[in-house]
Amino acid sequence: MNYQELKKVISANPKVVLTTHRSPDGDAIGSILGLYLFLKKMGLTQVTPIIPDPDADFLHWMPNHDLLLDYSSNTDQAKSIIADAEVIFLLDFNVTSRLGDMGADVDQNSTATKILIDHHREPDDFPYMLSEVGASSTAELIYVFTRELAPEVKLDVDIAACLYTGIVTDTGSFRFNSTSPRTHRIAADFMELGLETAKIHNLVYDTNSFNRLQLMGYTLSNKLQLFPEIEASCMSLSQEELQRFNYKKGDTEGLVNYGLSMKEVKFTAFFREAEDGSVKISFRSKGQFDVNTFARTYYNGGGHLNAAGGRVEKPLDEVVRTFPEMAKSYMKELSK
Ligand code: 5GP
Ligand code: MN
Repeated sequence: MNYQELKKVISANPKVVLTTHRSPDGDAIGSILGLYLFLKKMGLTQVTPIIPDPDADFLHWMPNHDLLLDYSSNTDQAKSIIADAEVIFLLDFNVTSRLGDMGADVDQNSTATKILIDHHREPDDFPYMLSEVGASSTAELIYVFTRELAPEVKLDVDIAACLYTGIVTDTGSFRFNSTSPRTHRIAADFMELGLETAKIHNLVYDTNSFNRLQLMGYTLSNKLQLFPEIEASCMSLSQEELQRFNYKKGDTEGLVNYGLSMKEVKFTAFFREAEDGSVKISFRSKGQFDVNTFARTYYNGGGHLNAAGGRVEKPLDEVVRTFPEMAKSYMKELSK
């Protein structure tokens, strides 16, 4: 990333759009709002953060969350702002297909200067890139970006709250092996800015509804399958089951990790039937088992070494039934 050159572009106060991926998670929302607040602090006045579709309720407390423009419910307005943009930031994704319908507006129909800040594997090429596959989170990279671009502009407690949320949610509260000394140093910096970190954990994690806990209990006791011969497990939920527990966006967040928390399991999947009948999949693994390649090869997806996702247009039953075969044939390929 050529920060000097980029600083020139930015100092002209261009029309800026910030984007992040579909079904935005804590890292996506933390990154987009953290960078938004920082660019405002740098003096930029024409910055619009746009999300492809809504995020889960447990993220709505974040500073300036009400300024996020939802493309799915304000499509015309969002399209015209994207078309006018001179600079577009792409945050927490590596290919524009992760934007859903919004991808074409950002990709084909825009001449804006693109800046990618991301930590997923195998990113597409963009004029300005801060892509670090080993980074814990995009929020961590936003921190790095701000310190390189304009160290004279100090961070504040609101920016810290956003970026800390991104780091905490993407590292499973500092437990995944992407957590580095730098990650902890940044967290320490946020505490010194006055961030009350315990409060953030409380806002993010102590938000269960009765229905959500019941849904989790049901899934763990009725829908968990174990495949000891391949050290794998999986869980699935149909629309009918989700509706039974009055499912709300975000209710299954983190559920996939339980499938991996058994000692004998190195690889797990969670399958959720979406409203349109497609199946959204989450994969998690331990050690060197590469779920990014597995998701890319069989499930139109991707992600990281130990956490990836995908989506297929097939009936849920079929996707669940064929999972152990897919896993076996992938493992066979690996052992060749
Ligand atoms: P999650 O299971 O939490 O939805 O996603 C885990 C990781 O995989 C995230 O880093 C996410 O960006 C990535 N991921 C999830 N779904 C998809 C997908 O459909 N396509 C791609 N390329 N990556 C995905
Ligand atoms: Mn992320």
